[in-house]
Amino acid sequence: MAPARKPVIAGNWKMFKTASEGAALARELRPKVSMIHDVEIVVCPPFTTIPAVAQALAGSNVGVGGQNLHWEQHGAFTGEVSGPMLADAGCRWVVVGHSERRQLFGETDEGVHRKAKAALAAKLSPIVCVGETLAEREAGRTLEVVGRQIGGALGGLSDGEIAGLVVAYEPVWAIGTGKTATSAQAEEVHAAIRAQLAKSHGQKVSDGLRILYGGSVKPENVKELMAQPDVDGALVGGASLTADSFAAIVRYRG
Ligand code: PEP
Repeated sequence: MAPARKPVIAGNWKMFKTASEGAALARELRPKVSMIHDVEIVVCPPFTTIPAVAQALAGSNVGVGGQNLHWEQHGAFTGEVSGPMLADAGCRWVVVGHSERRQLFGETDEGVHRKAKAALAAKLSPIVCVGETLAEREAGRTLEVVGRQIGGALGGLSDGEIAGLVVAYEPVWAIGTGKTATSAQAEEVHAAIRAQLAKSHGQKVSDGLRILYGGSVKPENVKELMAQPDVDGALVGGASLTADSFAAIVRYRG
């Protein structure tokens, strides 16, 4: 029997919340989710907000993540932040290859691969994002595109490295648009990702991989998405910016 996968619900705050605003949100969120132990809870603030949020959440059941990292540990890379720097600031997680970074900042599958490796080397769990655009979906190319992204990002990683990361399937057309993939659309892609991992890394690694769905997840739709057999959590943008809506998503079991 496949092992039970502990769900992960991660909030991507994007470029919202100053340090004081982020600390206030974290302090408000903390008691609203303190009773939830069967979900891994993560918030990913902007870089400058991370230390204040990590302090506000110290000793809690809410982990902190970055939204990006550079693949080198240090060096002449103006404007960049490395894995060891994130870890030192209190992170245990980091989002890698978000579609906004792929689309607006030119990130490639190869760069995503290097970043995932760098995150693992810094003892951070990468949340590796993949997803098709609307044009790609309408052209019937969803599984091909996501398959290429998964192969590019995870190909060549060891079984142990795969066990240390999670994947987030985020259809680009569903991010910040209010249009959620149906639970059947999400499940189809999640199952395809899991099948691909079974081929490349074997059934055991594939069975253990947590695959999150992202794209307009809200308190109203999270339960149905989480009911799908291959949906193991959510990456949440807009609805993670208020404590009540994010806590309601974390508490999807009711
Ligand atoms: C995201 O930014 O990863 C995301 C899924 O955003 P939203 O929930 O706002 O669609």
